[in-house]
Amino acid sequence: MGKATILGVPFDVKTMAEAADTAVGFMIEPGQHIICTPNPEIVMEAQTDTELMNILKAADMVTADGIGIVWASKYAENIITERVSGYDLVLQIFDRIKDTDNTVYMFGGAPGVAEKAAEEMRKKYPGLKIVGIHDGYFDAKEEKNIIADIKEKKPSLLLVGLGSPKQEKWIYSNLRFTGAKLAIGIGGSFDVMSGNLKRAPEFFCKLGIEWLYRLIKQPTRFKRMMRLPKFVLRVRKVMR
Ligand code: UDP
Repeated sequence: MGKATILGVPFDVKTMAEAADTAVGFMIEPGQHIICTPNPEIVMEAQTDTELMNILKAADMVTADGIGIVWASKYAENIITERVSGYDLVLQIFDRIKDTDNTVYMFGGAPGVAEKAAEEMRKKYPGLKIVGIHDGYFDAKEEKNIIADIKEKKPSLLLVGLGSPKQEKWIYSNLRFTGAKLAIGIGGSFDVMSGNLKRAPEFFCKLGIEWLYRLIKQPTRFKRMMRLPKFVLRVRKVMR
């Protein structure tokens, strides 16, 4: 299936179903695995943040979060046919593991948000085993407790929602201490799972303008969104 390298980031060319199957495989295989789901903003961030770029290159699977990545892949060695956002990927994984022994730890978000997300996900996927929860606001002392808690709960899947690139760096530095089998950085997904933040209506998703909906809902995202046109210009310049 191969890779599609976009501005130095090696994306896996996989459909959503293939990516979810691979993720479940990572939970069963020996060793620990990391999945990253960068969008164009993160690819742009990685152009100047070498630590982030190295993590994306070292990840076991990198999926295309956003229509911008799918678009850019037409200039790469392989074409990505569909977007595999972190949020959708996690739901697909939940559906596959809900009646198995695989367990989930939810780490990140404002206090109470991951709890609410867990409640909603248990309703949606009965049989899903969420064994631990912690919010994403902590100091160095609390961080030690969080790592110890994850280690004790031994989750198959560690979801980390601290925003990018904080979550990717946290996972890369700490996964080995947690014993979790698979870690995925999922941005603000707990906010959506909990119902606190509505996902863009189908209409926006179909047209590929989910970003516009998010901008209207959270105008503070404007500055980071300015990276999008820069991404398009850079892909056109470098990859053509
Ligand atoms: N967050 C957190 N700890 C922090 C900073 C952020 O848990 O120190 C959470 C925040 O509550 C939100 C998510 O990280 O749930 C960031 O969401 P955003 O949509 O900005 O993610 P991104 O688009 O950067 O992946």
